Amino acid sequence: MRRIAEVAGRILRPLSRLLDRRLQLDEGAAAAGDMTVVSVAAPAVVVRAEDGRPFNEAERQLLDEIFALARVADESDNRLRALEDRFLILQRENLDLVMKNRILSEISHKDALTGLYNRFYVMEKIDSEMNRALRHGYPISVLMLDLDHFKRINDSYGHPVGDEVLKIVGQVLRDSCRVYDVAGRYGGEEFCIVLPETQVGNTTQVAERIRNRLATTPLSVGSTSIVVTASIGVAGMDSTEGVLSASTLVERADRALYSAKHLGRNRVEMWNPGATGPQEMSH
Ligand code: GH3
Ligand code: MG
Ligand code: MG
Repeated sequence: MRRIAEVAGRILRPLSRLLDRRLQLDEGAAAAGDMTVVSVAAPAVVVRAEDGRPFNEAERQLLDEIFALARVADESDNRLRALEDRFLILQRENLDLVMKNRILSEISHKDALTGLYNRFYVMEKIDSEMNRALRHGYPISVLMLDLDHFKRINDSYGHPVGDEVLKIVGQVLRDSCRVYDVAGRYGGEEFCIVLPETQVGNTTQVAERIRNRLATTPLSVGSTSIVVTASIGVAGMDSTEGVLSASTLVERADRALYSAKHLGRNRVEMWNPGATGPQEMSH
């Protein structure tokens, strides 16, 4: 309505020239039968001639038509603005949803304690990276790590300290990875790192570095200093060897890990076809 009054204000001068009478905007309603005013926007704005004389039929018709057109234009303008507002709200809601989805997918991919990727995501990643490796003829390696005698740490210091140790180990693994490697918590005190485009031989070096770092760096938890060692199994797929499934690759790394346990813990073992399976071992 205010906009109609604005529009009326703008067209008042050309209208005055057209009718050869000076017109002005007035506040108030046009009373029935009052021929001295024409309603611009009911109920509050009217136009009247400064000379105070009634409008004749032709003048009244012209002014009525023009202000009716202005009202129609204003209404469609309002609708357009309402649509624009609605669109902005939808856009904002959509952005909000995108952010929430991102957070949800982040949460659903991550392990709450260590902040590493969870087992589900790691398995998915191994699968997709293996497909990529096969397509491009790259090698790929997987490293499985299990903390040694972790139960003793819980038993000696308590479960919360055990949790802290797991967190720090998670950080050590993250620090030991390249950006395109994926470090995950496979379960309990078992971790997994996927190393795309990496030969098993090079993975053994990475594993040895992690093993050595854990074994030689006491972890500070509160006032306690704890050394935790890890056994690590490594397996890889060289695309020239043929196709493996993700679960077979993990199973091989797991077997190598069991060998490392069997051979005394705090060591790195590479999968080999003759290795004894976990079911035949006690550790
Ligand atoms: P090994 O060298 O053979 O691996 O011995 P281990 O004691 O590490 O293995 P075992 O499987 O007997 O025990 C694993 C322990 O890890 C027992 C379990 O309570 C502990 N554990 C698993 N998940 C968590 C966790 O989230 N927090 C804590 N504090 N402990 C955990
Ligand atoms: Mg263990
Ligand atoms: Mg274990």
